[in-house]
Amino acid sequence: MKTHNNYNSLLRQYPFLILIHLILIIFIKTHGYAQAQTVRFVNINGEVIAEAESVLHNKSVYLPVDIIKDVFDPEMTYNYHLPKKQLILKTKDKEIRLRMGSKTVNIVTDKKNVPINVPPQVIQGRPMLPMNFFQDILPIFDDIVVLYNPNLQRVRIIPKTAWEGNNDEAGKQFIVIIDPGHGGAEDNGCKGQNGLVEKDIVLAVAKKIQSLSKQEGFIIHLTREQDQYRSRIQRVQSTNKNQGQLFISLHCNASYSENQKGIRLYINNPNGQLRSKAGITKVIGQKGINILNQANYLKQSKDYATILQNELNFFTEDKITLKEFPMIALADVYMPAVLLELGFLSNTDDATKLANPDYISELAKSILRSIKLYETSINNSPDTANE
Ligand SMILES: [Zn+2]
Repeated sequence: MKTHNNYNSLLRQYPFLILIHLILIIFIKTHGYAQAQTVRFVNINGEVIAEAESVLHNKSVYLPVDIIKDVFDPEMTYNYHLPKKQLILKTKDKEIRLRMGSKTVNIVTDKKNVPINVPPQVIQGRPMLPMNFFQDILPIFDDIVVLYNPNLQRVRIIPKTAWEGNNDEAGKQFIVIIDPGHGGAEDNGCKGQNGLVEKDIVLAVAKKIQSLSKQEGFIIHLTREQDQYRSRIQRVQSTNKNQGQLFISLHCNASYSENQKGIRLYINNPNGQLRSKAGITKVIGQKGINILNQANYLKQSKDYATILQNELNFFTEDKITLKEFPMIALADVYMPAVLLELGFLSNTDDATKLANPDYISELAKSILRSIKLYETSINNSPDTANE
């Protein structure tokens, strides 16, 4: 009987509990915001320079106004005019006015209006700026490029000079050779549990980089355009014939351990730590195998690999380290070269990501950004300026 009474009283409380729930839901709906994750700001070298608490409002990430001064532009001052709901930002010789809730940004000094996809808003009593502001509006005033990775809540700030460089060398074409590993019926590379095959993934990524590069003015040659077999010698020959300024070999990984995951990045260093003492030392010791060619490009390879490493660390969760090994696959290539393993097909997380065309596209964009930054770094370097 006693249990029955308890049950009845619980039933009597139900409408009340439901009401509380409804009130909560309505409150959240009408206010529409929740504290989002911490946003991390990283510089061109991938170092974290600041962190800020963001607010999620109508599915957009908002940041406090102070972040501009603290992270992007120390010269920026701001004024919030409460009755007009207007935010006035001043930096150097520029003045910008934003109205809370308005999708128009007034650039006072240029006497023009610029649209913004997501409007600034007063949230929890203070003016907040949407992520779009930092990506689209701020670069108008400051010589920076702002990249945002919503998956990891990372914001990357790159100086425009590192991105665009001087276009004096516009006549010179930058040629990159991408080598999608394996190919043909006889060489599938490694296979994943979900049916993924290495040769297909690396070709998809290579082709994506190639198609995206058309807007950037690079020439990207692939060592194979389709599912065909290419020997190492054939790859090296076509690579050297095309006289590229950069060589990127793409592979995937597989391991007996399901836990092994993530991207791996390598450059060829004959003096580097040996990958497998049993296998490679013998090969190096043999006469007739020349590993000096690529060794001449060790510094440039390392320069590019560092840029790529930073790009990938912005893109992906798992920290990517750069490893230096004597690598026969890169040894005969007469240009700066890296070998990139895009993930472990034996790992469920990696295989799921690599089966997703959006992931492939974002990965290709990251690699393309690294190529662009590297090209600019060479064009800007004093060593090549007088050539
Ligand atoms: Zn491979």
